[in-house]
Amino acid sequence: MQFLYRAPIGLVQLTPAGAIEIANPHSIQLLMPLSSDGNIENFFALFDGIAPQLRASSTAFEAPTGVICQAVRVAIPGVAGTAPRVLSIDVTKLDAARLMAVIGDATYEAEREQQEVARQLRHAARVDGLTHMPNRIALIEQVQTVIDREPVDVGYEFAVLFLNCDRFKEINDMFGHQVGDEILALMGGRIRADLRPGDRVGRAVDANQMAARINGDEFVVLLEDLCHPADVHLVAKRLLKTLAKPYRIGGRSLYSNVSIGVATRADVTGDADLLLQDASIAMSEAKHEGGARYAVFDASMRERAMRRGGIESDLRAGLARGQLFVVYQPVVGLQDGVVDVTAGVEALVRWQHPQRGVIAPIEFIAIAEQTGLISALGDFVLGDACRQFVAWRTALGERAPRLVAVNVSRAQLVTGEFAVSVAAILRATGMPPACLQLEITESLAAQDEAIQARLHDLRALGVTLALDDFGTGYSSLSSLHLLPVDTVKIDRSFVSLADTSAHHRVLIEATIRVARSLGMKTVAEGIETEAQAAVLRELGCDKGQGYLFSRPLPAGDLSCWLDRESLLVA
Ligand code: C2E
Ligand code: MG
Ligand code: MG
Repeated sequence: MQFLYRAPIGLVQLTPAGAIEIANPHSIQLLMPLSSDGNIENFFALFDGIAPQLRASSTAFEAPTGVICQAVRVAIPGVAGTAPRVLSIDVTKLDAARLMAVIGDATYEAEREQQEVARQLRHAARVDGLTHMPNRIALIEQVQTVIDREPVDVGYEFAVLFLNCDRFKEINDMFGHQVGDEILALMGGRIRADLRPGDRVGRAVDANQMAARINGDEFVVLLEDLCHPADVHLVAKRLLKTLAKPYRIGGRSLYSNVSIGVATRADVTGDADLLLQDASIAMSEAKHEGGARYAVFDASMRERAMRRGGIESDLRAGLARGQLFVVYQPVVGLQDGVVDVTAGVEALVRWQHPQRGVIAPIEFIAIAEQTGLISALGDFVLGDACRQFVAWRTALGERAPRLVAVNVSRAQLVTGEFAVSVAAILRATGMPPACLQLEITESLAAQDEAIQARLHDLRALGVTLALDDFGTGYSSLSSLHLLPVDTVKIDRSFVSLADTSAHHRVLIEATIRVARSLGMKTVAEGIETEAQAAVLRELGCDKGQGYLFSRPLPAGDLSCWLDRESLLVA
């Protein structure tokens, strides 16, 4: 019995009614705080206030010998400045007339359990559920740790790369959020795989590369202890390449590029949030330049970002207050030895901003797309163009342009409503459908059946379609036949080199040949010199557009231009 006496657990022998017969010293120590008057006589009475269920042990007396008939855990308040404790109590039937209570101090165990739960909660709060990558909270903590760490030696560098998917909203709108999520999960996997541990850009053995998903379609990569500050360019390029590869989902290939902004230690003001903000500003700069690229932060970007931010809030008001207007750039016929000045015009939107003057579409179209204002903007331009076309016809008769081209954003094509509003505008303005050409830009059109179906809907209205900016982005000669377009517009970046670069000349020639074999017309954009015009004419391009012939004009100036040009031609 001696060993029971000294055991580091409490042992109490009691009657079925709870009267304590034997108790070892450790049990007295554990039970004493429960006794109000220093008497420890009835075991169950001690626990009446906090674990009344213990009394049920006596009714479970039918149980076989040696079986635990009650197991409880109770928290007992600390007395006289001592910390509260947690007791574990197992009551066992000893024999026909006695019970044994085994009392353990479970405080430590309970604390450990609580810590584990807290750890799990903390982990869950720091992990992104979709990609299982660290989330924004975890990332900010890590970035702050890195910023606060003293440089190990001279040349110690780190960088954050802020990734944002280009046009992710379109993917969600077109294929649904589930597909969007699948792509994001695949992206997370690719980013992690791309930062292979065996391919560290850091010099230290424990150099860290962390990839986190911080929000919707935004990921951040943290590179620590870079061997060479310039290595960040390699990583950015590699990520761009890896993420641009097609994503196979549900039997089809989807594409989604990212734009990356890079910020390094040099920009650090000591605050992780600010560093991320700089990287995000560089990212929007990369996006603004067309996306699918990276940009390294510099201070001048901050001002441009603020300007863009202002534009977002002003645009809605501008649209409502009639600050947008449309200018028209003539498109001329190049063949038959004359410049045919009545071939057509392209409608180009402008914004008369009350403080900033006239703003070009490059500054606000992308913002209109992102904020959902593009439909209203597009309808406005289309309405103006159709009304103007009908007015020219009435006023100028034979001398009026024969076609008006209007740019359409991808974002407008995503929903099925566009064809409905085109039909309504045609009807309301009395516009002959065959004289309206809608210009779309490459990429998604060739990739996606839904977009293709929408283009066919438009064609069914009797309007024609042109593929704009051909030669940039995803456009390729081999997918030209997939698109229901009538006209291909060769991008200015090719045309501007037509007379000086043999390579570009060959590409233009091939484009014209393929387009013609598919029964499509060609238009060269951005012709600025006679030499360029001569080359395009020689290569058989049907029409041209550019400053050589005319800059975009206010609608009221077109008839003057036509008069002057007809005189020149004559
Ligand atoms: P785009 O459709 O390719 O239009 C041609 C752009 O090239 C116009 O710029 C035009 O002013 C410019 N350009 C024409 N000839 C020359 C030239 O000889 N030299 C140079 N350097 N540039 C020339 P703009 O008006 O700034 O429009 C830029 C882009 O914005 C357009 O490219 C089009 O994609 C978009 N955009 C314009 N209006 C609208 C619109 O109403 N809706 C939509 N969705 N996009 C529009
Ligand atoms: Mg265009
Ligand atoms: Mg263009």
